Amino acid sequence: MTCAEVKEKLVDFLYDELSPEARTAFTRHLAACPACKTEAASFEKALGSTRAALGGPLSQEPPMRVRLAVLEAAQAAKPSVAAAISLTLPPVPVFVLELPLLT
Ligand SMILES: [Zn+2]
Repeated sequence: MTCAEVKEKLVDFLYDELSPEARTAFTRHLAACPACKTEAASFEKALGSTRAALGGPLSQEPPMRVRLAVLEAAQAAKPSVAAAISLTLPPVPVFVLELPLLT
């Protein structure tokens, strides 16, 4: 697994949505790559602070459902915005997108 792939799969990793094979490759890369390990740790810390700020664990709803909800809302508002979001969604931390949808 490359550094780019690790960055791409970081959210899935933190949400425990990787296949066992991908998870093994991911953790193996982190063990050998201090840069990715640091990034994953800070990301996980941010996720933990978000959970703490909300006073409990985030909903266990899968990120894909959240992505689709965001896309749907954007599509209804403005198709060009939805197109832009679908291009930028993967690198966007899902927990940030999830906050307005918790209520
Ligand atoms: Zn790396």
